[in-house]
Amino acid sequence: MQFGKRTDPHGPPMPIVSLLSRLVAFDTTSVLSNLALIGFVEERLRAAGLEVERYASEDGRKANLLATLGPLDVGGLMLAGHTDVVPVEGQAWSSDPFTLREAEGRCYGRGTADMKGFLALAILAAEAVRHRRLKLPLHLAFTYDEETGCQGAALLMRRLKAAGRVLPRCAVIGEPSNFQVFRMHKGIAGVRVRFRGVEGHSGKPRKGANAIYPAAQVVARLVELEAELEARRSMESEFEVPYTTVSVGRLRAGTALNIIPNHAELLFEYRTMPGEDPDYVLNQVMGYIEERVRPAFQARHPDARIELQVVTRGAPMLLPPGSEIEALALELTGARRATAAPYYSEGAEYVGAGIPTVLCGPGDIDQAHRPDEYVTHEQLQRGLPLLARLIERVCLPQGAA
Ligand SMILES: [Zn+2]
Repeated sequence: MQFGKRTDPHGPPMPIVSLLSRLVAFDTTSVLSNLALIGFVEERLRAAGLEVERYASEDGRKANLLATLGPLDVGGLMLAGHTDVVPVEGQAWSSDPFTLREAEGRCYGRGTADMKGFLALAILAAEAVRHRRLKLPLHLAFTYDEETGCQGAALLMRRLKAAGRVLPRCAVIGEPSNFQVFRMHKGIAGVRVRFRGVEGHSGKPRKGANAIYPAAQVVARLVELEAELEARRSMESEFEVPYTTVSVGRLRAGTALNIIPNHAELLFEYRTMPGEDPDYVLNQVMGYIEERVRPAFQARHPDARIELQVVTRGAPMLLPPGSEIEALALELTGARRATAAPYYSEGAEYVGAGIPTVLCGPGDIDQAHRPDEYVTHEQLQRGLPLLARLIERVCLPQGAA
């Protein structure tokens, strides 16, 4: 396979870097539209003979792209990734984050690791097999809004199911993993609790309802809960932090020393281990509020209020061990075993929809979401033959009719 001239003796072939640089140049921060990038990719994949479909968000500002090479009536291999990137605001970049910069065997730019490097690899891999007659199809699924809760992938799965489409037989999401193979990760939930108290003079505490006190009770309960969950550790070998974690991210309350505070707002999250009840922490907190916190708070003043709202929520990902795609990814990467990703991904949506999925891609998650994000030439270069072999094995099975 000929990919063209090299940038330097140790660097990857040119096409991967030039394509990555085009993708990085589209500012697809999650709050913005991704349609310009989708248009660019769509044109390129159509030119390579892929069947391209768009699945637009409800407001039409964003779209998922699903491109297929090969037969449409059977499930094939889906190479999946998100097009959106995290914001650069407030980060100290050494150069323009949306202009790819090469130095010392690295490509710097927002999204190089997470995860436009993989998108570029997937496009080149599809183009490389454009003239082959695939027995099972190759699908490229490029989504929107992964970084803000995987809304794009969820919509794509809903639409495909509603249309009665044959789903891919397996999927690889190229999240940065240094080509380790991940088959699971934790779920995530974010919860906001608002406490509305009654203000008054601090010298007469019985005249008001101090909103900080019930908030502090809930915080204390969350600290206890985390300790209980840590004591029930499991899957030590797969997870770096092998238990459901709880964290209080924000507590805002009060105005002045001599005023009984009339409001408090608490934000906490918890990340549930696969296989555990994803509502356990929520139910514990709600039960505690109903039994202990609310009665005491309202006894102070009948106008006191507590409102709880789940602001974000995603199921854990868990691909049962021993699947075909896991075995294949392990074989092709040489990894010993599939473990747990230390981050959330669209894998939860795909596995939830019934598509056996692993995470495996170029770059390191430690480089993602940071200033001077980068992916190395070595990782990009490693990806090309790897994807070629993956496509060969799934889409051109030996011995198939
Ligand atoms: Zn990502």
